[in-house]
Order: sequence, then structure tokens, then C-alpha cells
Amino acid sequence: VTDHFDVVVIGAGVLGAAAGYYLSREGWSVGIFERGAVNRQGSGSTAGNLHIQAIHPRRPGQAVPVDIKRFLPLQLAASNMWTTLEEELGEGFEMTRNGGLMVAETPAQVAELEAKHRAELGAGIETEVLSGEDARKILPILSDKILAADWCSRDGYANPLLVTLAFLRRARDCGAVISPFTPVTGIDLEGESFTVRSGDRRWHASHVVNVAGPWIANVGRLTRLNIGVGAVAIQMHLTRRAGPRMQVLVQHVGEALSVKQVQAGNVMIGGGWPAASLSMEGRSQPSLASARGNVQQAVRVLPWIGDLQLLRTWAGPLAVTRDEMPVVGEVPGCRNYFVAGGTYAFTFAPLWGKCIADLVGRRPPAAALEGLEPKRICRVV
Ligand SMILES: Cc1cc2nc3c(=O)[nH]c(=O)nc-3n(C[C@H](O)[C@H](O)[C@H](O)COP(=O)(O)OP(=O)(O)OC[C@H]3O[C@@H](n4cnc5c(N)ncnc54)[C@H](O)[C@@H]3O)c2cc1C
Repeated sequence: VTDHFDVVVIGAGVLGAAAGYYLSREGWSVGIFERGAVNRQGSGSTAGNLHIQAIHPRRPGQAVPVDIKRFLPLQLAASNMWTTLEEELGEGFEMTRNGGLMVAETPAQVAELEAKHRAELGAGIETEVLSGEDARKILPILSDKILAADWCSRDGYANPLLVTLAFLRRARDCGAVISPFTPVTGIDLEGESFTVRSGDRRWHASHVVNVAGPWIANVGRLTRLNIGVGAVAIQMHLTRRAGPRMQVLVQHVGEALSVKQVQAGNVMIGGGWPAASLSMEGRSQPSLASARGNVQQAVRVLPWIGDLQLLRTWAGPLAVTRDEMPVVGEVPGCRNYFVAGGTYAFTFAPLWGKCIADLVGRRPPAAALEGLEPKRICRVV
């Protein structure tokens, strides 16, 4: 049994899996510790959309909007990594890059589409604002009420139940040790290295990577770090399978909505609508009001969905920061302790995983992380 790792990664969601892969690929000895089963929390309940065009900046009830311009260069970098990821990991995960339409229903929303399109072009993401008629040539089931849509050929989705496992398998092939049902219960700082504990068991580590998603703050407290990451629960809706009618991802510029038909034929509807309750120990509970609101939007934009049967809804936890921006980097005052997490971490998973490996290796990160560093939300207590 190994009692020393170069890097202990805490959390086996998509970020822990990606960071574990990029680190172990470079020859670091890596231990990935997971409290429960792997990929069960945010990463097992996500919609799995690859959001490359500028997103709608607010979930329902979200007070501070996402800085969508700051996101764009990061989305482009993540998009480029996803393009080669199935090949790199040597297995498919039902990635579909058929593009996406962000729709507008009012003249004011059309103006918003134009503005976001200019920002996208400025960031090197090619998009095109289409008339409603041209958008319906791409997706004939779009409502007649859609006036225009921003088209981005890079948008897509992947099966989140497969992506994390693909990263974990390759990490294991590179020597990483993956320990599910091993909650990290203590992290003692000794000089610049760490003793990581799970109950009575302990391991020495030169580096710690805290990618515990909604539990980042709890894990931080084990090392007397106050990390300003909270949690909300949001929900998804899935219809029964139908014949293929939608090849593209659909979003709305003025409202939180995402709709797609996955490879098995089910239509998946989301947008970050709030769940009835957040549970950090068990399962968060979906809300009927959110189900009604989210599904009604989807039917308004895509009337065909109204004839489908709803199969199930579920809710999952999401890590959030005060400024709604991700957090990625080394914690100030705690050398060799890194954190990564926050919103849209599925889209950003390969990028954040690679950035963590770069930072551990003391190289410039794969993406410029200005404004995302932990210093804005972390302090040693
Ligand atoms: C319903 C929903 C829809 C979403 N849709 C999208 C989308 O379409 N596109 C997109 O880009 N993003 C989306 N997101 C966001 C994205 O899915 C998440 O940000 C991402 O999956 C989070 O991954 P993570 O690895 O950071 O966290 P998680 O997947 O939550 O993993 C953290 C892990 O840490 C473990 N852990 C916690 N404490 C400990 C401990 N003490 N010891 C060991 N392990 C511990 C947990 O058990 C958990 O498995 C969505 C999220 C939700 C909930």
C-alpha cells in the first residue's frame, strides 16, 4: 500500500478525474480520494452541455450574473481541448458537436444576440446571427415565434456518465490510485507537505488538489482555510425516448433554458432552475414549480416537446462563488494546496484539469487565470 503520493486529489467528479489524468500522465504519483461513489454528485447529475457560445448569464434567482466576456477565451480553450479528447482518452463518450442555437423571441433579445455575437467574434469564436426562418432550416421544430438565433457550430454535449470514467480509467492506466468511499477527514500541514487522513488511515502528500465541488469549503476547513465556495441545487428534466428530431443544442438568450435530444432519443431540459432543497448528505429534491416553469419554456420554444412524456426529473448540487466565477489556482498562504471548481465545470473540465497539472508543475497554466484565482475568496484562519 502506498503511503505517499506526490499529489492527493480530493473528489472524483469530472474535475478530480481530469486533474488526476493530466497529473498522472506527467508522471506524478496521484491518489484520488472520493467520499462516496465516483461521479455521483454534480458531475453525475449535470446536463453535460459543452457551452462554447456566450451563455445566458443567470440561473433563475441568481443575484450576480456570470461575466460572460471573461468566459469567452476560456470557452474557446476548453472547446479546442474537447475536440481531441475522445481520441486522446482512447474511448468514446457520446460527444456530439453538431452546434447550437441560442434563440430570441423579442426585438430587444435580437439586439442582445447581435451584441453577444460581436463579443464572440472578438474572442475568436465564430458565430452567426440567423433569422428565425434560417434557424428553422437548421431545426424545423423551432417555434414560429423565434425571431432570430445565434448559431455556434462548436456547441455540443457529451454523456457525463462516461466522461469522468474515461478520465479516471486513463489516470489509473498512468498509475493513479483511485479510492472511492474514502472521505478525507483531515489534512495536516507539515511545513510544505501534508498528511491526509481518512478515519484512521493516513497518507503523506507533497501537494493537495481540492476539487470537492460543493464541499470545497468543508475540505478547506480541514486545513484551517476559509474558501468562499457555497452550494445550490439545480434540476434537470428528461422525456421518454423519441425518434431523432433535434441534432443541435438549443438555448435562450433571455432566459435560463437548455434543450437537446441525446443519442438514446430522450430530450433533456435544463437551465439551472432551482431544486426544492439542497442536500449535502443525500439527494437534493427537485421542485414541481421549477419542473413546470422549465418544461413550459421548452415547449414554448420547441412545441414538439409538448407531445412527449416526461420520464424523470432530478436535482444535483453546484458549487458557487459570490461573484459566480470559477475558482482555479494555488491558495495564497498555503503553498502546494490547489483548488478548482465552480460554475460550468463540465465544459471547463479538461481545461481546469490541465491548468491544475500546469500549476503543480510550476508552469504557466493552459489558460490565463486572472480574476479566477483563489485569493479573492480564500483566507487562512
Ligand atoms: C443539474 C446540473 C446541470 C448542469 N449542467 C451543466 C452543463 O450543461 N454544462 C456545464 O458545463 N456544467 C453544468 N453543470 C455544472 C457542472 O456539472 C459541475 O460544475 C461539475 O460537474 C462539477 O464537477 P466537480 O468535479 O467540480 O464537482 P462534483 O462533481 O460535485 O464532485 C465533487 C466530488 O467531491 C467529493 N467530495 C466531497 N467531499 C469530499 C471529501 N471530504 N473527501 C473525498 N471526496 C469528497 C464529492 O463526493 C463529489 O463526488 C451542471 C450542474 C448541475 C448540478
